[in-house]
Amino acid sequence: MQIRYYGVRGSLPTPTLPEEVELKVKRFFVRILRTKEYRGLKLKDAVRQVPFHAKSTYGGNTPCVYVRIGNEHIIFDGGSGARMLGFDLMKDKFSKGKGTARFFFSHTHWDHIQGLPFFAPLFIPGNKFEFYSCFPDLEERLRYQHDPRFFPISMDYMQSQKKFIQLNPDEAYDFKSYTVRVMKQNHPGDSFAYRVEADDKTFIYSSDVEFNDKNYGQLHQAIDFYRDADVLTFDSQYTLDEALSKIDWGHSSIQFGIDIAYNANIKKVVLFHYDPTYSDEKISDIVRIGISYKNKLYPKSDLEIIPAHEGLLIEP
Ligand SMILES: [Zn+2]
Ligand SMILES: [Zn+2]
Repeated sequence: MQIRYYGVRGSLPTPTLPEEVELKVKRFFVRILRTKEYRGLKLKDAVRQVPFHAKSTYGGNTPCVYVRIGNEHIIFDGGSGARMLGFDLMKDKFSKGKGTARFFFSHTHWDHIQGLPFFAPLFIPGNKFEFYSCFPDLEERLRYQHDPRFFPISMDYMQSQKKFIQLNPDEAYDFKSYTVRVMKQNHPGDSFAYRVEADDKTFIYSSDVEFNDKNYGQLHQAIDFYRDADVLTFDSQYTLDEALSKIDWGHSSIQFGIDIAYNANIKKVVLFHYDPTYSDEKISDIVRIGISYKNKLYPKSDLEIIPAHEGLLIEP
């Protein structure tokens, strides 16, 4: 099982602002020139030691996560990150109309579907796509995005074969080389988490979910659903303070993700769906606070905390 993140930002595509790039460059040079430990190192070795947020970016594309299991291609959500995934898939069979893939949608809020009209393999005749969700009208929802008032190209112009399949929460689905289970989540308009098991590895995609006073009962169900997974990709849109002031907005915090991952005996929790107002520096600060929260509350736990970024590859 290989997991690659193509879009990790929540709500809205968020390009890095020119002033943020300029500040990053200035601070990068100050750091390289003034850090004693870097002196005498080759430039590439010094750069390797610069923290991620100071030399790169977590990325501004909205949710799209790709999982490869053997020859099977699985895609969670079609946010703006799907555009780059499409180009990567076009390097292989998908450019010749010989590719097949399954999309699983958490829900159809705009940030989770807006990349589909730009997903190149959908345009190639011969490619076969299956679109899964728990919504009975998924096809209608996706077609609506291609209404000529909003987008110039109809869904029928995308000549690949498309099938729409409705799933039921709490059922297990067998796809031969892997199984998928679905859980309904608390989010405006509903959203759904997916649990994928293949060989002895388990991946969970749980974005756009909120636990608060009104649905604490679901917490135990969620912990059972997540239990013993190798990788839990979890909605970490907010800081703890923001999460407390944005009740019913449908999202979680990093601290909550750490608590739930610890209680479910997860190996790696991947922080995901960052708020569009967060700079790379702020995300890095929040991650640091999250790691010290974990070290304080669960000092003996081996739980690994990984901030998602575009291009991140995890092989559990
Ligand atoms: Zn979202
Ligand atoms: Zn949403």
